Amino acid sequence: IMVLTRKMIEIRNILQRVGKSDSLQLPSIVVIGSQSSGKSSVLEAIVGHEFLPKGNNMVTRRPIELTLVHTPGATVEYGEFPALGLGRITDFGQIQRTLTDLNMAVSDAQCVSDDPIQLIIYSPMVPDLSLIDLPGYIQVESVGQPPELREKISKLCDKYIRSPNIILAVCAADVDLANSPALRASRIVDPLGLRTIGVVTKMDLVSPERGAAILRDNQYPLHLGYIGVVAQAPSLSQGLRQRLTGGNISGIIAQNEKSFFDGRREFDTGSGVKTGTVELRRTLMHVLESSMSSSLESISNAITQELEEVSYKFKVLYNDRELTAESYLAENVDALKQRFKEFSARFGKPQVAAMLKTDLDQRVLNILAEHYWDDKTLASLSNASPDDKHWQHHFDASSLALTRLGVGRVATDLVVNALSSKMQRLADETDFRHNHFASNHIQSAVQNILRSRYHSTADQVENCVKPFKYEVEVDDREWNVGKERAVVLLKEEAARVEAAITELKKSVGSKRLGQVMSFLKEQGAKEVQANEQDMGGYSGALLQKGNYANYLQTRADVLKMRIMALKSKQCRSKENQMYCPEAFLNVVADKLAATAVLFINVELLTEFYYQFPRELENRLVRNLTPDQIQAFAREDKEVKAHIEMQEKKELLQLALDKIESVILLEKTSKMQQEQR
Ligand code: GDP
Repeated sequence: IMVLTRKMIEIRNILQRVGKSDSLQLPSIVVIGSQSSGKSSVLEAIVGHEFLPKGNNMVTRRPIELTLVHTPGATVEYGEFPALGLGRITDFGQIQRTLTDLNMAVSDAQCVSDDPIQLIIYSPMVPDLSLIDLPGYIQVESVGQPPELREKISKLCDKYIRSPNIILAVCAADVDLANSPALRASRIVDPLGLRTIGVVTKMDLVSPERGAAILRDNQYPLHLGYIGVVAQAPSLSQGLRQRLTGGNISGIIAQNEKSFFDGRREFDTGSGVKTGTVELRRTLMHVLESSMSSSLESISNAITQELEEVSYKFKVLYNDRELTAESYLAENVDALKQRFKEFSARFGKPQVAAMLKTDLDQRVLNILAEHYWDDKTLASLSNASPDDKHWQHHFDASSLALTRLGVGRVATDLVVNALSSKMQRLADETDFRHNHFASNHIQSAVQNILRSRYHSTADQVENCVKPFKYEVEVDDREWNVGKERAVVLLKEEAARVEAAITELKKSVGSKRLGQVMSFLKEQGAKEVQANEQDMGGYSGALLQKGNYANYLQTRADVLKMRIMALKSKQCRSKENQMYCPEAFLNVVADKLAATAVLFINVELLTEFYYQFPRELENRLVRNLTPDQIQAFAREDKEVKAHIEMQEKKELLQLALDKIESVILLEKTSKMQQEQR
């Protein structure tokens, strides 16, 4: 059994992934011949299908690297273009069209391209072979062909017919061999004819005597000899051909050749000439096999050398640290999880409570300003009767404004926004920031979880604060805490107001600001007209600042008064809450915050902390395709270089292991043969 070629083709494919290195090339069979010599017909006879581009003006413009893979027992024959990712193609007409398209893609100006097309054909009818089809030599230039085409094709062929490749020189029997450009080219690189096989096509077009004479040729002797073929399939209707051949035409071609060569004395076994496509295949297999076998050692040496070099570089550059796209992704996912864990420890119930309280405090201040501090009659509050309608109304309205602000949504929004932006920052601290794809996944993981929890959290919070909308029970301790806290808040507010005044003084000048302020106060309730006399000689901008300073001053005074009120005897008891709205609203805000935090912690935060690492794992590890993972890792240039070098090292090691096992296999089988 011929396992060597197959194994070597496998090894060649591995080496191809490492990148082209001349020293690591395995022998292939290169098919050359002039146009219309029957090159395509020979290849198609070997494959058993018509699959090569045809047509009057159809010149093969790119080399086709054809790998035949013998698949014993398989029921389907199919082709694959590994570079195109089209998958299995069982229709050989489709393969032919694809090849035509690929050829036509080479521009007329470029004429030919040396970028090979890779095609693999799997079939139980083909032997394991590796063939390269090249553009045919031009003998007679046709109209419209660029004049340099002939030269370019020649050069391209020269590149491929170098050692250790085997040359399959195709010549037609009805053309003088002396005129064969294929033989001429091979003679230059292989003068002894050691790695050239001559294929003489169209044997049916010359007399048997003449045909046999060509095959016995001693004018151009070839060590591997000539083989005469009739590679053309007899013309049959599609339907009949299908019925006769079951799709594969190599049998019918062989049959046709048999009827042509058999029984003719010129070609019988004693004549010493070789004929037929069956014989050609057998020869190709043997020649390729032995050529592979003799290059085993040198290839193995070349791989060893390359591997040593890469290993050394890998050690120097990366200290032998293993890195794959998968491990890189896993490292980053772990880093993010670690950061997330640290973050979740830092952002829990107390932090949410503080955040929410700060927010509610600001809202309380706004409500107080609206309902109390802007009220010009505020000074009358402490002397008002307990059933004073005006102040009772303000008290109820401000309490409702707080309990009905929709704390469920307010609190949930607050936490959701905080989590989103913190998560974004966490992701930005890892390598995921370079990768749109991954950061989108992270963000949408965050959003998905938060969205799925949003409504139920907000609703539950809102439901549980409902009782506060009707009545808020306050005990003594709560009252005292609320009052203290209110004093602190008012002091902070007073400090902000003072700071704003200082800022104004600095920008206008303390004295001048004082003047404008008194001027404006004198004007009193009188409406200031927009003409110079009424403006007291001050500019509009200055008057505006003066107005603002007066407003701030009033607010500062109000705050001072309210702080005193809160500290006074009147506010000592919760029964007097109507006179101390700042303390009361603070207590309410505290209760709202405490309730909200309870639910947010359970319904949102804990859920989020549980789900996020799992969702992350799902999206970034389990759901990414290998290509996406590779793309992610390779976005970072250094990681890319590292991964590629490691891959190269691994592939070389794999190739070396394989080739060593092949060498061992060869030795054993040789020993067995000798023993016989
Ligand atoms: P290529 O240009 O070298 O690929 O040549 P083709 O395989 O396309 O063949 C050129 C022409 O020769 C086609 O019309 C084939 O049908 C014909 N041809 C190929 N082989 C034979 C053969 O063995 N006998 C005869 N009579 N014609 C052949």
